[in-house]
Amino acid sequence: MQVRILGSGAAGAVPQWNCNCAVCRAVRRGERGVRGRTQSSVAVSDEGARWILFNASPDIRLQIESFAPLQPGDGIRGSGIAAIVPIDAQVHNTIGMLMLREGEPLSVYCTEIVREELTLRFPVFKILEHYCGVRWHVVETDRGVDFAVPECPHLRLRAISVRSNAPPYSPYRGNPQPGHTIGLRVEDARTGRALFYSPACGGVTEELRAVLESVDCVMIDGTFWENDEMAGTGVPDKEARAIGHLPLVGAGGMLEVLAGLKKPRKILTPMNNTNPILDENSTQRRRVESLGIEVGHDGLEVRL
Ligand code: ZN
Repeated sequence: MQVRILGSGAAGAVPQWNCNCAVCRAVRRGERGVRGRTQSSVAVSDEGARWILFNASPDIRLQIESFAPLQPGDGIRGSGIAAIVPIDAQVHNTIGMLMLREGEPLSVYCTEIVREELTLRFPVFKILEHYCGVRWHVVETDRGVDFAVPECPHLRLRAISVRSNAPPYSPYRGNPQPGHTIGLRVEDARTGRALFYSPACGGVTEELRAVLESVDCVMIDGTFWENDEMAGTGVPDKEARAIGHLPLVGAGGMLEVLAGLKKPRKILTPMNNTNPILDENSTQRRRVESLGIEVGHDGLEVRL
């Protein structure tokens, strides 16, 4: 199985259009040790010909152009993208579907509640009906059932509910329903090697910890360094935990969780532009790396 991080920045990317924080400023100045990042998405494939996208970010066009296997093949029209699996109904994880409206119907795999949000409240599916159309495939959570995407027949996918929040536009904000946010376990049936991808994770239960320990590589939420990181940015009401992200530090934080895992390779993705680990020279970055945890970046490829 091939896995490629298309985008390793959280909502807003790095730099964010209106942000002048230390990281965004450093990227704009071209300073060494601080990378620009597009918004959160990962592509997986069994044989490298057809790909499944986890999330469709606002930067999807740029991400396709930066990775030839997603581009058209020899015909006049085409795409290496076989399917899209949004992990939730957040704007930054789904709006990219609107950029793909010129082609064949989009094959989208998501939970019932995500379909509801994308039909009734942020009606991406309804709008696409006037362009390419959507072929929706239901994704069940927590029933121990795998699903498959026919174009990548060797991959077994499993959706696992994770604690986070419903989108800001949703009537379920503050009261997320099962299936509002999923993580994805992907196993290559030929080798038994597996990935777990969870870019929005508000907490790790014992059940989820067992999933993390069962795979060879974990790509997981590194959005915020600390819970009140957004306090200095003019939007102080956005505490990490309240909007559905477990911060890296603090009691029970993501670093503590990951440091306790024995088996998997551990890669953080995405990171918000305010996160100090994005500066490769920071003490926070050194602390992460000293725990054997990697900071993901756009274009990082893993073979499992
Ligand atoms: Zn910034």
